[in-house]
Amino acid sequence: MKKEHITGICCDLSSEGKGVIRLDNQVVFVDSLLLGEKAEAEVDYQSKGISYAHIVSLLEKSPERIKPLCPVSTSCGGCTFENATYQYELAFKKKKVVDALSQIGHISFPVNDVIGMDEPYYYRNKIQVPFQRNGKDIVYGFYKANTHKIIPNKECVIEDKRATSILSTIKDLMLSMHIEPYDEDKRSGVIRHVLIRTSYHYPDVMVVLVTNCDTFPSRNNFVKSLVNSHPEINTIVQNINTRDTNVILGEKEKVLYGKGFIKDSILGINFNISSKSFFQVNPLQVEKLYSKAFEMATLKESDNLLDAYSGVGTIGMIAASHVKHVTCVELEKSAHYNAIKNAKENKISNISLVNDDCTQYLIHTNERYDVVIMDAPRKGSTPEFLQSLVTNSPERIIYISCNPATLARDLTYLIGDYDIQEIQPLDMFPRSFHVETIVSLKKKV
Ligand code: SAH
Repeated sequence: MKKEHITGICCDLSSEGKGVIRLDNQVVFVDSLLLGEKAEAEVDYQSKGISYAHIVSLLEKSPERIKPLCPVSTSCGGCTFENATYQYELAFKKKKVVDALSQIGHISFPVNDVIGMDEPYYYRNKIQVPFQRNGKDIVYGFYKANTHKIIPNKECVIEDKRATSILSTIKDLMLSMHIEPYDEDKRSGVIRHVLIRTSYHYPDVMVVLVTNCDTFPSRNNFVKSLVNSHPEINTIVQNINTRDTNVILGEKEKVLYGKGFIKDSILGINFNISSKSFFQVNPLQVEKLYSKAFEMATLKESDNLLDAYSGVGTIGMIAASHVKHVTCVELEKSAHYNAIKNAKENKISNISLVNDDCTQYLIHTNERYDVVIMDAPRKGSTPEFLQSLVTNSPERIIYISCNPATLARDLTYLIGDYDIQEIQPLDMFPRSFHVETIVSLKKKV
C-alpha cells in the first residue's frame, strides 16, 4: 500500500523535539524537521490521533540546520538534535520547561536560560552496546528505534572517545578468536552487550562483557589481549545473562581482571562505581547541576537536610560538609548499599542512610528538616509525599527533575505554601530532547 504524503511548514516542536505540521484536520510529527522549515513528509504510522512521519524532501531549510557530526544520525534515532545548532537545541529545551510549567502547572514564572555544555559531544561516561553477526562481519551500535536491528556505528559522537576505540578492538578480537555475538532468535552465541564506563577524574575504565553463558573459549586470552591493546582498562567484569529478555544485565558476575569497580568523583567526593551502580552519565554537567542546586539551597552549618530520592547518596555526601546533618532516602537496595560504602570511604559521619520509599519515610518521620533537596525519577513524586513535605514545613525546597511535565504537576502541590525563587534548566543530555530542571522554593511568610 502506498503511504500517505503530506506537505507543510513546521510551526512548533513536540515535547520530544519533532517538527509539528498542522493541516486542516491532521497533526503530523516529523522527525528531524526544524522550526520554520517546509517539507514533504511520508506518514509512517498513526497513534492517538497524531500522524508520525519522516522527511522525503526538504523544500525550505532553516538557517539553524547543520551537517550532523554523526554519520548515522537519521537512522540511529538515539539523538534528536544532531542536525541543528546547539543554540537551537537549548532554545527548544527552555521552551519545553516554560510550556510544561504554564500548560500543566499554570505557573508563569521567568525561566533562566538553559545551562549548556561548551562542547556538547563525547560526554557520556557509560555506554551499553549490543553486538550482532552480520554475514562475515560482526556489527555493534544502537538499535534502530522500536526494532532489534542494529544500526552499525563505529563512532558514537556523544560517548567518551576512550570507549570508541575499545569497542573496535573488542570486535576485532571476537572475529580473530571466533567468539560469536549472541543470536536472539537461536539464543546461541556468547557476547550480548558490552558495557563501558569511563571515569572523568581518574584514568579508570571498566569493561563489562555481558554473556549468554558462564564461560567461553579463549576467555583468558581475550582478556589478556584486550588489556594489552588498552592498558587504560583497569577492570573487566563478565556479567552472565542467559535469560530471554530485553534487560541488559543479568544477576551473576565474575571479575575477570582488576577490582570489579572504578573510581570517579563529583565536586571532590569519591565514588566507587560497579557495573550496576546508578551514576549520572554527564560528568561535567552533574557538577554544574549540583553546584547550582547548592547555591540555590543556601546551605547553612545549622541545617538539617533531607536528600530525597538519593540514589548512591551523591547529593547528600557532597552537601554533608556544609550542613549539620543529612538524611538520604533511597528505595533501591543496591544503591543504598553503595551509599553506605561511599559514606564510609569518604569518612562522612553526619549522615543517615535510609532504605525506604520516600513517601512512607516522610509521612512517618519525626525529623523536622530545614532544607529538602528532592531529585525525583521521571514519573515525579506522589501527592502524599508533597503533602507531607508541606506539613514538615522546611524553610527551603530544591526540586531537581528530569521531566518538566511531572515537575509542573508536582509544583502545584507546593505553591500554595511556598514561593518559587528561581527556575534553572540544565542540559544533562546534549543532542537529545531531555532537559533537567532545578526549582528553588521558599516557605511563604
Ligand atoms: N539523586 C541521585 C539519584 C537520582 S535518580 C543522583 O543524582 O545521582 C532517582 C532515584 O530515586 C533513583 O535512585 C531511584 O531508585 C529512586 N527512587 C525512585 N522511586 C523512589 C521512591 N518511591 N522512594 C525512594 N527512592 C526512589
